[in-house]
Amino acid sequence: MSAVIFHVLTLFPEMVIQGLSPSVIGRAWEKKVISLDAVDIRDYTTDRHRKVDDYPYGGGAGMLMQAQPVYDAHRAVTGGKKIRTIYVTPQGTPFTQAKAQELAAEDELVFLCGHYEGIDERVLEEIVTDYISIGDYVLTGGELPAMVMIDAIARLIPGVLGNDFSAEEESFYNDLLEYPQYSRPEEWHGKKVPQVLLSGNHQKVTQWRLEQARQRTAERRPDLYEKYQEKQLLIRKLARHKRNNIHLVESLTRGCAEVLYSDIMLAGHSAEEHTAAEIYSAEGKRIAAESVLLYDRSCKTCMALAADMASGEAIAERLPADTELIIVSEPYLKELLKQRGYKVLGSYIQVLYTRKEALPVKHREICRLTMEHYPYVCRWYCNDGKCGPGIDDAYVRERIQAGAMYGAFIEGSQVGFVGIHSEGSLGMLFVEESFRGQGIASSLEAYAVNRMLEKGWTPYGHISAGNTASVKLQEKLGFYRAEKNYWWLEKTLANSTLIC
Ligand code: SAM
Repeated sequence: MSAVIFHVLTLFPEMVIQGLSPSVIGRAWEKKVISLDAVDIRDYTTDRHRKVDDYPYGGGAGMLMQAQPVYDAHRAVTGGKKIRTIYVTPQGTPFTQAKAQELAAEDELVFLCGHYEGIDERVLEEIVTDYISIGDYVLTGGELPAMVMIDAIARLIPGVLGNDFSAEEESFYNDLLEYPQYSRPEEWHGKKVPQVLLSGNHQKVTQWRLEQARQRTAERRPDLYEKYQEKQLLIRKLARHKRNNIHLVESLTRGCAEVLYSDIMLAGHSAEEHTAAEIYSAEGKRIAAESVLLYDRSCKTCMALAADMASGEAIAERLPADTELIIVSEPYLKELLKQRGYKVLGSYIQVLYTRKEALPVKHREICRLTMEHYPYVCRWYCNDGKCGPGIDDAYVRERIQAGAMYGAFIEGSQVGFVGIHSEGSLGMLFVEESFRGQGIASSLEAYAVNRMLEKGWTPYGHISAGNTASVKLQEKLGFYRAEKNYWWLEKTLANSTLIC
């Protein structure tokens, strides 16, 4: 992924630039992880007096921004290309963390800021793809809403936040508000920092934080808490077949996926009612309760589980139009998706590591990769050892910037790497041929497993069916195999290679 570009069409470009330049977003801009350009709509007016507004037809208070300058400014920025264009307006759908995640996956975005009483409807109809509001109140202009949205979106882009993955623990991930936090001194105004945070026991700290987050959410945002409880119910249900469903369970637990379809969660029921409803219907019939469709917006990946053909059809109907990858485990669902234009990328064996204790890492020289190591990973992951551009370079860049790749070195020279895929599985394992047989691959895997355990995740991976060496390696490390086969399907026939 190259720098994500934010264009802002506004009457007050300096306000946007000044508002976003300091601090984290400004630094990301300096580092070229994002690019920001504020375009003065007034520069595009054909009016001799640089006027951009006029009275609304039919009367009424205030002035309206005219269509011509807005349209021409938009044309100048997009060059006629189709770029997602957001009109920030109190009449839009509410801006949420999920929306921020969705927009963070785009390469380029245009924000249109209104002023006065708004903008002539005709130009909105021609250029706007999304109408988004920051809340049920009216501001004087769209600059602050655009800045709010850009800030929330940009900080989700890999490489923007200094502390990798730190966005994952914040409010709204997993439908919970963040737990309370404390810094030095240990005692202030007679109030002590909770003892558990000083204990050094990571597991206890994690438990305490989760409990605090639950309590806080239940008190302050009962609507969110209900959503959280519903999701927990689904996780518990899927976890009964953990070996087979670990990809679904982890995607939900890590807060990456939204549920687009489920016959397990029945809308409008309380958690207690769910427990009854998931087993028996109103007529006393047992409900299949085994079909689910999850969608991870950030990597446009779906994961599906279908109990029968009918649920398979329901799932296929609900696949978002921009789905790039889908992971399924039922042959009939695979066939159905093939009929709908998906192509099978490969068949995979799922393995998972259910123990809690860290694995020994024998090879000492392993560390998290930075962009300095990008050419090496590209060469071996995307380009068969050759130099020059490869087919998955953008993916490698995104994974490194997400802090999700680790490398093995010998006396400072890189000899291999491993990574965590965007949908959550462990993979991308590679060790140069002349360094194989020295335990470097198992050390890399063990290292990545340990990082995942620290986050409270259950490590799992998808290995190409037939790659017996890799299955053996996973089994040696203590991974279990699922009972099913898994297929990865992609939407188009575009060049794409996956190394698992
Ligand atoms: N007459 C408009 C209406 O009732 O919808 C409100 C116009 S407002 C005074 C001027 C501009 O501020 C809007 O065109 C919009 O771009 C921006 N704006 C105001 N409140 C907003 C909000 N809550 N969310 C997003 N944008 C907002």
